[in-house]
Amino acid sequence: MSTPPLASGPHGPGALRPLLHTVLDALQDGTRARGGPLPAGGPDKTAAHLRDAVGDLLPEHGDPDALRTLVTAVAAGSADPADPLCAAHLHCPPLAVATAADLAASALNPSLDSWDQAPAASALETLLTRTLARHAGLTDALVTTGGTESNHLALLLAREAHGAGLRLVHGANAHHSLPRAAWLLGLPDPVAVPAPAGTLDPAALDAALTHLPGPHLVAATAGTTDAGLIDPLPDIADVCAAHAARLHIDASYAGPLLFSPTHRARLDGLDAAHTVTLDLHKLGWQPIAAGLLAVRDPADLTPLHLDADYLNAPDDTAAGIPDLLGRSLRTSRRPDTLKIAATLKTLGRRGLATLVDQVLAHAQTLADLVTAEPRLDLYDRPTLSTVLLRPAHAPDTTVAELRRRLITDGRAVLGRAHLDGRLWLKATLLNPHTRPADLTLLLDRILERTEGPAPA
Ligand SMILES: *Cc1c(COP(=O)(O)O)cnc(C)c1O
Repeated sequence: MSTPPLASGPHGPGALRPLLHTVLDALQDGTRARGGPLPAGGPDKTAAHLRDAVGDLLPEHGDPDALRTLVTAVAAGSADPADPLCAAHLHCPPLAVATAADLAASALNPSLDSWDQAPAASALETLLTRTLARHAGLTDALVTTGGTESNHLALLLAREAHGAGLRLVHGANAHHSLPRAAWLLGLPDPVAVPAPAGTLDPAALDAALTHLPGPHLVAATAGTTDAGLIDPLPDIADVCAAHAARLHIDASYAGPLLFSPTHRARLDGLDAAHTVTLDLHKLGWQPIAAGLLAVRDPADLTPLHLDADYLNAPDDTAAGIPDLLGRSLRTSRRPDTLKIAATLKTLGRRGLATLVDQVLAHAQTLADLVTAEPRLDLYDRPTLSTVLLRPAHAPDTTVAELRRRLITDGRAVLGRAHLDGRLWLKATLLNPHTRPADLTLLLDRILERTEGPAPA
């Protein structure tokens, strides 16, 4: 075999073109072979299919057809968030334009740890992070791998500002990555304020802050993972101000409501936070990863500064070479801003607002359909694009079993959430192309599986 071609340089596009044809054909073949939201047959059958298709993964002599084989096999065995019946998680179908931009990011391979590896990509990152941070009412933003890393960074910056005695106070509805970050950073045990209605209660927060020794970092949530609920942000901000507590808002899910004139007001209070987590691989239609941590005071970022002579020597910095190392805890780093920037500029605020408004409207439609179906119960009217439902009068074990049967049969992908002391099926609607007929079909699949085995 001759030396394999490279993706960048003058010959890169020529080398990529036939390979892209192969990839696109394989995506089509694999998706057709699957024929639904998830491969049928469950974990053992899916793994066996993959092993059979791949064969020897590290043969002595290479296989020129490996790209086609692997992409076809993975596509055939994928959960496809572009299928309207694939609606379990905050796992979005990426936009074609974002994915195409991500290909360019892979081909050019800029690394955001030094200017000499990413001259234009670092300038684009500056532009994009400032633009999005200001749109959220803050000042600057760091690029992360998602909500988990953003929440971790938020706690780190808070600890550097307030000391190692900083205590995290969060709602019981908060994402698990927040208490985990406190553990990772060696902070005092976090305190979870009960959230019986699904959102953080400002009075309960006030009581907790009154009784616990400070300093405090309060973490509120704009878009809970289980139910898509938004904490009362302005009231929480007032309580934090009264107790001199620092405020972090995890807007991993609801953040993109900022683009929508119809729904933006639901994020009032966001700009009162010291830090805000945004995660555009959820309600932002980006391929993973596309996280951001927005900050109000850029001085909060100073503790991230680090000297590494090979990346940001002081004499290089003095001579005007940008110092990028303090923009992340990571060193080598992908240009995840290229796909985000391509999306923002291609769609504009209006285009993004339309997508947000569409998926929120789908949730209302699904809730209407559930309400009209006596064999199903609806948890509550949806706030965002999450709808919780369950077969009426079924015990939790039946609901759990139903969900497993749907995913192992490959007929529908729904999530699950414990709320109100009961187990609910969770539909997280992120596909703007979903039609009402798809939602009816989703309910039909639930009902047919509630009542017995799948028709042959
Ligand atoms: C998904 C989610 C996270 C974690 O984000 P990742 O991108 O998966 O790391 C954090 N907080 C909330 C509220 C989430 O929904």
